Amino acid sequence: MSENYYSREPRVTPPHLRAQTATRRQQPNRRQTRRPPRRSRENRLAAVIALLVVAAIVGGGVWMWLNRTVHVSVNGTGADVSASATLEQIMEAEGISPKPGNLVSVGGNVLEEGGGTAFTATVDGQELDEAGIAAFRAAGNENITFGDGADVTEASHEEEREVQPQLEPAESVGAITFVSQYGKVGRQKFVVGDVSGETVAGEVIEPVQNVKLESINPRPDDGRKVVAITFDDGPSGYTQRYLDILSEHGARATFFCLGSQIPGREDLVQAIKAQGSQVCSHTQNHEQLTAIDADTLRSEIGDAFAAISAAGGGDTTTLRPPYGSLDAQAWVNSGGNFSASVIWNLDSLDWELPGVDAIVSNCTNGAWSGAIILMHDGGGNRDQDLEALPKILETLQGQGYEFVTLSELFSMDSRIPADVAAGNARMPEDCVWATSVAE
Ligand SMILES: [Zn+2]
Repeated sequence: MSENYYSREPRVTPPHLRAQTATRRQQPNRRQTRRPPRRSRENRLAAVIALLVVAAIVGGGVWMWLNRTVHVSVNGTGADVSASATLEQIMEAEGISPKPGNLVSVGGNVLEEGGGTAFTATVDGQELDEAGIAAFRAAGNENITFGDGADVTEASHEEEREVQPQLEPAESVGAITFVSQYGKVGRQKFVVGDVSGETVAGEVIEPVQNVKLESINPRPDDGRKVVAITFDDGPSGYTQRYLDILSEHGARATFFCLGSQIPGREDLVQAIKAQGSQVCSHTQNHEQLTAIDADTLRSEIGDAFAAISAAGGGDTTTLRPPYGSLDAQAWVNSGGNFSASVIWNLDSLDWELPGVDAIVSNCTNGAWSGAIILMHDGGGNRDQDLEALPKILETLQGQGYEFVTLSELFSMDSRIPADVAAGNARMPEDCVWATSVAE
């Protein structure tokens, strides 16, 4: 194609070529159109500078406003501090260093020194909480008082637990100590420290019922003149002769038999009952109950009751502890397998073999109604006792005393429950025994 070809056409540019033609026509002017005139560029620069200056003035003003000094009172003394200062910044600027509190257990023991809050702050009379301390910014004229940090109590949770009964020992010491109240399990809420594991008692849901002991010297309510003579450590070869003497004098007594002495002497156990006297337990092997472990103690007591029952001596839960030795822990250790412990008021001291006259006077001098006398039908030579026994019976009968069994004596004293007096009281089915001694 050539120029000539177009030259033959009418001098009208076809529509699809017009723009191209126009562009081509404007091309020589393009650079001139994009470059602003010199004056315009200077105006824009000035505007930018002006903006920067304004920004600097405003920013500086804000900075100065924020960093201006305000007057406050700190622990009673005037102080100039930066506006918007936090409490920590004010403390540091004023050289105040409170002692931090501790992290403490629910029981009040220190778990971590300095583990509590760093300080306390009271502003215009109001002590701030943690959020208030964090949010505080000085505005001027505040009256600020800093104090030592507060203790913080460990995290804890609440648990509902069973409370086992404890044993409340008797408040006095008498010849008979018995269970006056059996135990019942209680329920109570406890606060348990998550760190320490300590527990603090809270709301009582069901009150616990403790085991209670009572100890008295029995005396007949009606002033009747009775004494109870008791024999320990049998049955033995002397027992039947004692029974004969008692029968001859119309007297009854109580025999505290050793379980280990019963085999082969079952007839004597039955003879005691047949004579009208009473059989109780002196334990199986005469161990000191305060010196043995709980399992041994329970079998020492339980085995003898079983041996007496099997021999025909009847159902008894009454005990004379060897050596008269029994304490609150031994009661706890028993699991409640006996109901009463009986000691004595007048001691024959027959085991010292002091002579017939001494035994008689030891058993009769100063006797009173309800007194319990201690002698032995086993454990050694009892010839002095055999000779002394009729004299003791005659002496006291001469003073108007009647010789009765312990059950008979106890049933005359209305302070002693009927089943304890009967000698075979047991813990009721809906009750439980104490697991420890009450403090
Ligand atoms: Zn004994």
